[in-house]
Amino acid sequence: MNRKACSIAISSGKGGAGKTTLSVHLADFWHAQKLPVALVDADVEEPNDALFFSFARNESHPSFRSVAKWDESLCAHCLRCKGTCAFNALLASHQKVVVYDTLCHGCGVCVHLCPHKALLMSPLQIGSITDGMTTNGLRVVSGTLDVGQELAAPLVHNTVTFAQEHISEETILLLDTAPGVSCSFVAAVESVDAVILIAEPTRFGRFDLELAVQALTKLERPFGVVINKYEPGLDCIHDYCSSQSIPILGCIHQDTDIARALSEGSIIWKDFPMLSKALESITNQVLDRKRKQVLLR
Ligand code: SF4
Ligand code: SF4
Repeated sequence: MNRKACSIAISSGKGGAGKTTLSVHLADFWHAQKLPVALVDADVEEPNDALFFSFARNESHPSFRSVAKWDESLCAHCLRCKGTCAFNALLASHQKVVVYDTLCHGCGVCVHLCPHKALLMSPLQIGSITDGMTTNGLRVVSGTLDVGQELAAPLVHNTVTFAQEHISEETILLLDTAPGVSCSFVAAVESVDAVILIAEPTRFGRFDLELAVQALTKLERPFGVVINKYEPGLDCIHDYCSSQSIPILGCIHQDTDIARALSEGSIIWKDFPMLSKALESITNQVLDRKRKQVLLR
């Protein structure tokens, strides 16, 4: 979907790197700077951005995906559908056809092959999308996957599409994605203009960052890196980024007081000049690159 304002995802190769913290703080910081921004929590298996805010309104909408459904009354038990499902979601015998809807990817192959129209696509509720406005006027959209649902990517896609369709196209969408390089991550980043990867300066952090970089390079998404929990001497992310010509958009230093304050689940950038300076630097880097139309690497 072509929007006037850009969409930027915040991702990390691994969990615990500070992705949620950066997402909520950057959204709140930009909102305070009067930049038109909305926060989209696309980490649908653990959506926790909304916990940082108080809401003036919050509306929940059910979200669905399509799965195959068997109509016994039309079935001629021809077994044409047997063995056709690449995801092992369909079992067929002379007596019965069973579709396991949590395994069904909704590809429609079995529906297409059934000569008696005994298989059809049907909506399955997989979660909900919450559309909220905080008490200070920041729009926050969150997807929440229902317990027991195995496929998160369709809800990620629904959540991003909901935000694109319901939020003014002049508004920058800031997406908090799932960590790692799973289908949920891909579903979130495939439609954005750029990705901010946050990484901590450890060997694990560097290894997982390299995986995320490989994935984004294949997806041809521009990206840059924010280093979190930096301490002098821990330069493995700096070294890696400079060896790969990856722009470093900002660096947040390790600070026990900040970690303690964050554990309360609050937005704290106004209380910590080091944090507000880091957010300002990231903002300037992103906006400067947007202006020059070189959105990150
Ligand atoms: S292909 Fe259609 S008619 Fe044949 S067994 Fe499967 S569901 Fe029944
Ligand atoms: S729609 Fe596709 S994934 Fe679902 S049961 Fe049929 S073949 Fe399998």
